[in-house]
Amino acid sequence: MKLVRFGERGKERPGIWMGDGRILDVRALAFHIEDYNEHFFTRHGMGQLKILLDDPGAKYVDAAGVRLGSPVARPSKIICVGANYADHAKEFGHDIPTEPILFSKAISAINGPNDPIVLPENAQVVDSEAELAVVVGKAASKVRKEDALDYVAGYTVVNDVTERVVQKANGQWFRGKGFDSFCPVGPFLATPDEVPNLGSLRVWQKLNGETLQDGNTADMMFDIPFLIEYISQGMTLLPGDIIATGTPPGIGSARTSPVLMKSGDVVEVGVDGVGAQRSAVA
Ligand code: ZN
Repeated sequence: MKLVRFGERGKERPGIWMGDGRILDVRALAFHIEDYNEHFFTRHGMGQLKILLDDPGAKYVDAAGVRLGSPVARPSKIICVGANYADHAKEFGHDIPTEPILFSKAISAINGPNDPIVLPENAQVVDSEAELAVVVGKAASKVRKEDALDYVAGYTVVNDVTERVVQKANGQWFRGKGFDSFCPVGPFLATPDEVPNLGSLRVWQKLNGETLQDGNTADMMFDIPFLIEYISQGMTLLPGDIIATGTPPGIGSARTSPVLMKSGDVVEVGVDGVGAQRSAVA
């Protein structure tokens, strides 16, 4: 299944992406499913969605022209992994980390997958980072990596948009990565059965049609089961939480001839088998 949230910002409705130009309108049939939020995942909402797929009374909306929001409503946290691909660490002159580097993006930065990315005033060096992201399906505390995938609701794409000058100047990364619209999520939450080959997914970015990043999850240093074990040792992951697993090399500002995002550009990021985003830069 591919879960989407559709409609105006702040008024999105939960839906199922049918892949045939239609979205199943979940709330039209299941009034109690308000949204894809912590409550939904905790109450085993996924099982209820499967039943809706077979309901002859299901209502659909035409997907064409419908705005998509983040497929998860306001999670408790977005945890990001820095420098999880060795060649990306090297392009910024970082040492190869021996443990995951964790940081957070502001929840208010969440953007729909095709919404404009709005550059802040006085923005200087802004990059996109294509990333595979994990959505947590049930509360995870002190989970072992052998069991970690049982705690996953599904996968999505995050663009970890970053203002580098602010990121570097501030000593920590929160502000440079936390501006409004700097966290496009989606288009879907793809359930694990849709993503059988987690360890070999192409992760890519194009700016104005030109490929900047073309990596593969096979090159992650810390894989998803390890990350869930590592994070959950001391920090409970709540249903709906998002873990962005890091970005491969090819970042615009790290190039010999830097390519920077500017107003009027179009950035696309995607993970093959999980989905793709297309955002205008404003
Ligand atoms: Zn990142």
